[in-house]
Amino acid sequence: MDGFGAPGGHLRLIQGVAPLVRNVDQNPPEVEHHAKTVCFCHLGDEATYGTGSDASPLLAQYTGNSLSNTPANRFLALLAARPVILGDGANGTLIASRGFDRTPYDQANLGAPDLVRDSHAAYYAAGSDFIETNTFMANRLRLEGLGLDVEAINRAGARLAREVAGDRVVLGAMGPAGRHLQPLGTTPADQLRESYVEQAIWLAEGGVDALILETFLDLDELVLAVDAVREATGLPVVASRAFIEDGEALAEGLPQRVAQVLHDLDVAAIGANCVVGPQRMVDIIRQVREVTDRPVLAFPTPGLPQLVRGQVVYDTEPEYFARAASRLVEAGATILGGCCGTRPEHIAALRRIIDKGDLKPAVRASVKHEVKERKPLPESPPTELRQKLGRKFVLSVEMDLPRGLNVAKVLAGSRQLKIAGADVVDISDGARARLRMNPLAASKLIQDQVGIEVVMHFACRDRNLLAIQADLLGAHAMGVRNILAITGDPANIGDYPSATSVFDVDAIGLVRIMSRFNEGVDLAGYSVGARCAFTIAVAYNPLAADADLELDRLMRKAEAGAHLVYTQPLYELAHMEATAEACGRAKLPFLAGVLPVRSSRHAEFMHHEVPGIEIPAALRKSMAEAATDEDALEIGIAASQRLVESTRLISQGLYLMPPFGSPVVAQRVMEALGSTPPPPIR
Ligand SMILES: [Zn+2]
Repeated sequence: MDGFGAPGGHLRLIQGVAPLVRNVDQNPPEVEHHAKTVCFCHLGDEATYGTGSDASPLLAQYTGNSLSNTPANRFLALLAARPVILGDGANGTLIASRGFDRTPYDQANLGAPDLVRDSHAAYYAAGSDFIETNTFMANRLRLEGLGLDVEAINRAGARLAREVAGDRVVLGAMGPAGRHLQPLGTTPADQLRESYVEQAIWLAEGGVDALILETFLDLDELVLAVDAVREATGLPVVASRAFIEDGEALAEGLPQRVAQVLHDLDVAAIGANCVVGPQRMVDIIRQVREVTDRPVLAFPTPGLPQLVRGQVVYDTEPEYFARAASRLVEAGATILGGCCGTRPEHIAALRRIIDKGDLKPAVRASVKHEVKERKPLPESPPTELRQKLGRKFVLSVEMDLPRGLNVAKVLAGSRQLKIAGADVVDISDGARARLRMNPLAASKLIQDQVGIEVVMHFACRDRNLLAIQADLLGAHAMGVRNILAITGDPANIGDYPSATSVFDVDAIGLVRIMSRFNEGVDLAGYSVGARCAFTIAVAYNPLAADADLELDRLMRKAEAGAHLVYTQPLYELAHMEATAEACGRAKLPFLAGVLPVRSSRHAEFMHHEVPGIEIPAALRKSMAEAATDEDALEIGIAASQRLVESTRLISQGLYLMPPFGSPVVAQRVMEALGSTPPPPIR
């Protein structure tokens, strides 16, 4: 392909001490520099593209020379010139097959540039109208800790592609940053945005004609990335999401909703890529086409992957792939190509079919269709705990799960607490990384055999994102729906120091996951069939070492959808008052953490060795002066009773952690309450 050198000229920033600009027509160019943005394609009055704010139709927006009606950008010119255009297949597959075994394959841009050039050349030889740079993974956040020069990888990637392409079209490939955005993850939007902006600028300066953001799953991240790279470079942007094969997702219109969002962003093309083979992609593309008149990209894999000797392998014939992929044109695709596992043979076979000229592209929707309304999902009834919050002073008591199988004591204790008037029993989740029975099993046994609701603690340590969601769905199905979301103690402090600590998300992310379930969808946006009714509790410690951070996290937990707060054990009214103020700001009710100390040793240990716990000197002194352990326990209980009497006026309930998991001690603290109406939720 050539002939797209636009009359208006194509500007490119050349690497140098100060950015130089070269206009192929030698007209004096203008370059604008903003804090972090480079107006990369300023074309005087001849072009207005790249502002991102103009909602006019695509070609009008991107029109270059109005006299010749040729878009100034090679990629847009290509789109305008042909009904169906053909991209490339995977680079990694080829590079690996020739012996480059270091992943990510992006490092081949530096370590094996000839292999990368060969790969690009093989695709052009197979008939690709454009190629993509070998930079899909080369995001700073994604490659963090690997000791790679991300900038050099990107610059080399763009340069190698341009060397092979000459005047033909090159798209700069960018993938997700591999981090979860707040509030699900810990990465702030600014940090993510910066990583996209810098990569886009490196690729743009290396001479790519457009950028393709592909294989994104999180739509929020994709939207952020589109916005960031377009503002930074002014280049046309192709936005492509990966859709997992799922009949239900199709039935409830996920591709349509995603496409609508991308359409409204005014991207140069909207796409689906990766994960599914050509046949499974047809319905996805059909839905995308229903809501947009923009070019639609379809880059399927050759089929389902299998693991052969530790390697992901695709086993399909290029001819089959091409026949099946060509059906994507009838469904509405105008840009075809292949994702992971496709080779030049697949692209060559597609080229032959396209060149026969008998593919009939689907008629583009001329009017914007309304996105299919999602059927309202059935509601789940709220838990008793949720209904009591703000209406009744809530009594929550933690029972200690012993090691091993024996839950008889916990069941008996729960029975006793129920009779004593407790509202819920708390079961922790391998606290301090000790090995305990799965809390879901214990919670289910208590709820079924005792008839009292459980608040199940749920830590992020042991489960990846899949398992977290799978276990939560399982818990909801079994009726265990009060969940205290905690980040959890790392495995290396517990029984199995060599066990892996996962932490795909922290407590804030976990809250976000549950509140998505409460809306009826999982993290990827797929329906779970009903609105869940998780009552979401979170932890707060007014005595945390970094109080500002703790408060900030509390606010973020509230924003992410928490319903109530549990505190650490507290021993002074002033700390309870500080908690009440913080929770008031977060507009959340709180249960005051109360743990009666049982002996002088216990009190000293808690005060000196457990971070974030302060026991007043006076209490520790009287514990030390107690004649016997029994006397000491009485002093501890009495102190808790006094605290509870004043705390009940500012909290919405108690979270009792009796020593030895003793229901009797819990009962005695509870007796100090008499019958108390709850204060209103702040
Ligand atoms: Zn892929």
